[in-house]
Amino acid sequence: MAREGPKRECRKYQSLDGSGVEGMSGYFISIGRQTAEHILNSCKVALSQGRYTWRHNRVLQELASVISTAKGEIHPSSTISTVFTTEGGVKKWHGGSILINIHRKGLLDGCDDWVVSADLPEWERHPDVIRKTALRPDIVIHSASTQQIIMVELAVPYESRMEEAHAFKEGKYLDLTKELKKDGYEAKVMPVEIGARGFVGSSAYGLLSKLSIGGNKRIKALRLLAETAENSSRWIWSRRNERLLHKD
Ligand SMILES: [Zn+2]
Repeated sequence: MAREGPKRECRKYQSLDGSGVEGMSGYFISIGRQTAEHILNSCKVALSQGRYTWRHNRVLQELASVISTAKGEIHPSSTISTVFTTEGGVKKWHGGSILINIHRKGLLDGCDDWVVSADLPEWERHPDVIRKTALRPDIVIHSASTQQIIMVELAVPYESRMEEAHAFKEGKYLDLTKELKKDGYEAKVMPVEIGARGFVGSSAYGLLSKLSIGGNKRIKALRLLAETAENSSRWIWSRRNERLLHKD
């Protein structure tokens, strides 16, 4: 990922709607997408203060809750659904519809002992086979009887970096997936991106579909994930002028 020099790391920023530059002496004035990206995703001070982790875990909490309901879902019938998307930062429903899930077998079909664990304090801990490794996937869906493990890795990246985030997470879990397969597990990692400004990546849509979460339930879930990310980002954005933030 490209790094800016220290002087460019923390500048003063134009508001998201471009309506003006807020001044504070000692900082550069900069406008445009780069600054929103800095505030929402790349500020090292905000990162060190846990602001991005806080947002990530809020979205993770919702995602884990949605996934934990997947167990009750059975073979979906064909579903026609609109796609949730944004255009120029504005949420809207796509005009077109797409046909999905026709007689497709869900990942969880065929066994009923799935356990969902999440890397969150109040959630079930990951199974031993994962905990003995150095990696801590955000969510693990595990079936002991069929030796299946699905690792879900959530990222809340800036929208222009969704693909990059996806590839990074895939690479990060490649070795662990191979190890698990060697140990006789059917293992896969599924990176999911929910954009910091509320854009839901196709990865989220695909994951829920594969977990047999479809129709209105999927639409509501995707909307919830988008809103959680967006609302959390709004909080981060609203505090962008706190003095401590730009001391790096
Ligand atoms: Zn900063």
